[in-house]
Amino acid sequence: MNFVTDLDVKGKLVFLRVDFNVPLDDKGQIRDDNRIRASLPTINWLLEHGARVVIASHMGRPKGKFEPSMSLKPAAKRLAELIPNKVLMAPDVVGDEVERLKKGLAGGEALLLENVRFYKEEEKNDPAFARRLAEGIDIFVNDAFGSSHRAHASVVGIADFVPVKAAGYLMKKEVDYLKKAVHTPVKPYVAILGGAKVSDKIEIIESLLGKADHILIGGAMAYTFLKAQGLGVGKSLVEDDQIEVALSILDKARTQNVSFHLPQDHLLAKAPQAGAETKIVESLPFPDDMMGVDIGPKTVAAYAAVIAMARTIFWNGPMGIFEIDEFAKGTIGLAKAVAASGAVSIVGGGDSAAAVKKAGVRDKISHISTGGGASLEYVAYETLPGITALEK
Ligand code: AMP
Repeated sequence: MNFVTDLDVKGKLVFLRVDFNVPLDDKGQIRDDNRIRASLPTINWLLEHGARVVIASHMGRPKGKFEPSMSLKPAAKRLAELIPNKVLMAPDVVGDEVERLKKGLAGGEALLLENVRFYKEEEKNDPAFARRLAEGIDIFVNDAFGSSHRAHASVVGIADFVPVKAAGYLMKKEVDYLKKAVHTPVKPYVAILGGAKVSDKIEIIESLLGKADHILIGGAMAYTFLKAQGLGVGKSLVEDDQIEVALSILDKARTQNVSFHLPQDHLLAKAPQAGAETKIVESLPFPDDMMGVDIGPKTVAAYAAVIAMARTIFWNGPMGIFEIDEFAKGTIGLAKAVAASGAVSIVGGGDSAAAVKKAGVRDKISHISTGGGASLEYVAYETLPGITALEK
């Protein structure tokens, strides 16, 4: 994979895919511009070296229609505040006016295209649309790690129509860290998986069965595994259609050289709400009117002991409904254990990153990935469609 700084970009028309999918408030103001700031090293490098930079991103899920509330205009305004260079906002993604603006760009100037998902062809990875995106483009740079698990036209398809391709700074940083964890993890390698759904994480769990030394399971996902073992889990969130899958994972774990850990105790609540009646239990079945909302203190201690021995840690997904402070102890406890471990630690996903922040240990984590889904898929498949496209 080329890195952008390997290239001569002076005067070249560069198509830069970034992730400017920033959260907006109800007045359309940017609430958090971290994603824009995260792209600045690549944008600045390109502009300082005289490239004519066409920037593309998605925003939200407009489902193939022009949706003014998902326009990238606020992002263009913020980018213009953050860099000294001229930043133009295109009225569209493709078309005559956009082509005119692209041709008129001088070295050191940037043009932000409208939301690529205003066209349904983007998510379909439509070759004709990808060709239009590539019109006049000399170099394709992908710095949108968090979108690179999606085979979309501005991430994957465009690469077929541009002669020179490279990764940006953010992409390279992500891949460098994840590669270390995935291809050559220093052992013991401990994977921590939580969150709501088993169905989202089956492939990652299966791939980790052959790689990790320990897999620690928490979050609602744990209850699907417990129910699969015939245990009553009360009102806990369970994916009944994943029971068979959970059983097969438990079976495979027995034959692989991996310790597969499920919680030993649980914080139960009458409802997933602050102030609800709670209790800690060690044995199952749970009472019919209660649900598991966090791992219990015994589990935190047991998981922390495994984490303390780890040399590599990959974590995705909270151990409970951590958005509610009373149900966040398990997740915070593990965040602190990961921070104290001294292992190479990689945390992926918005929720896990938020949990690490909530625990106040953000600066003790080796790498917080900007892409939840992308980091999971990278760990499972050792590559992503957006990375393969750059290597073609
Ligand atoms: P995911 O996107 O799959 O990583 O799931 C994250 C979400 O899982 C968070 O919003 C958590 O509140 C939720 N979650 C974690 N544990 C539980 C639980 N025991 N019951 C219900 N939701 C949970």
